[in-house]
Amino acid sequence: MPVKIIIAIDGFSSCGKSTLAKSLARELGYAYIDSGAMYRVVTLVALRNNWIKNKIPDKAKIIAGLNNISISFKFVKETEKNTTFLNNENVEEQIRKLDVSNNVSPISTIKEVRKEMVKFQRQMGKEKGIVMDGRDIGTVVFPQAELKIFMTASPEIRAQRRYDEFASKGQIVEMDDVVKNIDERDYIDQNRKESPLRQAEDAIVLDNSNFTLDGQLEWALQKATETIKNL
Ligand code: C5P
Repeated sequence: MPVKIIIAIDGFSSCGKSTLAKSLARELGYAYIDSGAMYRVVTLVALRNNWIKNKIPDKAKIIAGLNNISISFKFVKETEKNTTFLNNENVEEQIRKLDVSNNVSPISTIKEVRKEMVKFQRQMGKEKGIVMDGRDIGTVVFPQAELKIFMTASPEIRAQRRYDEFASKGQIVEMDDVVKNIDERDYIDQNRKESPLRQAEDAIVLDNSNFTLDGQLEWALQKATETIKNL
């Protein structure tokens, strides 16, 4: 049996973390876990219940509501996609909308929410053979991860990628709103008290501003192969 490792991919919003994580997991035969999707599910529930107003979350209600949230990921054959479920409801499309993006970072600052999500994330990584992307995977969730990648890209490129992603789904958004959302999320994610976005000391930086998708995958595969060989 080949040795399996944990690969943690952290970084700023809209750097292409999930694109890289998915393709890397596929190439290695690993599981891919999108930790951001979990925070997005909690946000969707909060929005549906009016537990967040003007981006100010009602912490007590959200914490109490966590008991009724069961998150799971399944591969859906029809769409051939890793898909996020909330209590068996497919919420993949809804959690990617701009209203969820606009409210997710304030919700991610809540200590109790993070504690629950981290517990779930660690359970999923118990067997190793996993690629997980997020903001605190290499620093808090799996500080022992064998390979940590910290991704970044220029703000203009990130905004364009996110804009194109909305457009490809037929969602009409303003470029200004996309830029504002990315800036806001990065600011909150880096400056929150609980598990702020930081580059782990032992992380390798990948600035993919000028990389093709194949180029970044090749780069990451090489890092993974070297890591496994040197264990
Ligand atoms: O990765 P994605 O952009 O979908 O994450 C949505 C939001 O969830 C981030 O902006 C951040 O506020 C939060 N998040 C987090 N910790 C993680 C993953 C995501 O706080 N590990």
